Amino acid sequence: MATTRRCIARYRGAVPDAVTTAARFRETVGGDPTGVWSAPGRVNLIGEHTDYNGGLALPIALPQRTYAAVRPRVDGRLRLHSDAARDPVDVALADVKPGTPGGWASYVAGVAWAVGEAGHPVGGLDVHVSSDVPVGAGLSSSAALECSVAAALSDLLGLGLLADDDGRATLAGWCQQAENVIAEAPTGGMDQAISMRAEPAHATLLDCRSGAVEQVPFDLAASGLALLVVDTRAEHALVDGQYAARRRSCERAAQILGVATLREIPVADLDDALRRLRDGELEARVRHVVTEIDRVEQCVAALRDGDFDAVGRLFVASHASLRDDYEVSCDELDVSVDTAMAHGALGARMTGGGFGGSAIALVRAESVAPTGAAVTDAFVRRRWTEPGCFAVTASAAAGRDS
Ligand code: ADP
Ligand code: MG
Repeated sequence: MATTRRCIARYRGAVPDAVTTAARFRETVGGDPTGVWSAPGRVNLIGEHTDYNGGLALPIALPQRTYAAVRPRVDGRLRLHSDAARDPVDVALADVKPGTPGGWASYVAGVAWAVGEAGHPVGGLDVHVSSDVPVGAGLSSSAALECSVAAALSDLLGLGLLADDDGRATLAGWCQQAENVIAEAPTGGMDQAISMRAEPAHATLLDCRSGAVEQVPFDLAASGLALLVVDTRAEHALVDGQYAARRRSCERAAQILGVATLREIPVADLDDALRRLRDGELEARVRHVVTEIDRVEQCVAALRDGDFDAVGRLFVASHASLRDDYEVSCDELDVSVDTAMAHGALGARMTGGGFGGSAIALVRAESVAPTGAAVTDAFVRRRWTEPGCFAVTASAAAGRDS
């Protein structure tokens, strides 16, 4: 995946929407699309590396979205264009399998495949994709891509799954299968769930064991606050292997402890569980997962109380746990967090899988620009690529735009 990323252009143009994406479809495919669907990227407030442990996560949908202009075909072929990819991809649906078509097209073809596997055969598709979700920045451009296509298929096949949360959960599951099986990325399910099930002005508490969601009001502006995202633009080698290794460690620890997932270990039983592991590395991994799930619960309570100082402290504790116990941070993320905190942020942490990607900082509304400038200065002083800094609000889930 790291190699694919380098072939995908970073978003640089004007912000796309349904009208511009339909216009691009007319240029690249020809004729009118049947419709345009879109889905958001996400940023996780807290609850990192918990989804594949059956735990809790608390993401929001970003204002940045991926738009898919789509028209069905009847010849069993997928003809896929993206503004971010140099060449279009043409593949027969019958040939889609793990690793094929490969690269970015696997995320799109994988969704058509998963929908077919679920008993809803797809006859073929023409697709043009435009997006302003930063790619490979830990903001889930992959799920935004999958979910925009899944939303389209739900409507084009008359499945009606966008109408309610249960249907949306089904679509999110198919998108996760696409990513796990066809794109061969062993990710949890948080990204697809939030892209499909988010509500504007809310953070979404995801229970990755039961699949339930709970919407938690998240309107920072009303409290004079803002959420700053720092896309560090850092990519590190071995990312994908490291992610899989963390997953394996958690599975091994769960096996030793005799539980289905680490979610079964309440924070009150943590010390006892750690004593039974007798392996320093496994102990650290488990300590992160169990305390992080607890922090998500505390964060939801703090948000409901409007106690943003407590939210900030939980962000800081989450970052320390990911850095020291889970060992998925990196210099760029640590410098982003430390610099934001030194400039008065209420809290800051890495977000997403780690080893690069993005950090978030909870800041006073008037501090968005100065904090972003301070982080940028810190990067420039170290001769790192300049980060992308922008404030985000909790935005809408996948849906039809035209
Ligand atoms: P993230 O989801 O954090 O952005 P991933 O590595 O999971 O990072 O997914 C990034 C990959 O998703 C890209 O390398 C590319 O294959 C695919 N992708 C995402 N958005 C687009 C897009 N607009 N056009 C083409 N491919 C995309
Ligand atoms: Mg992704």
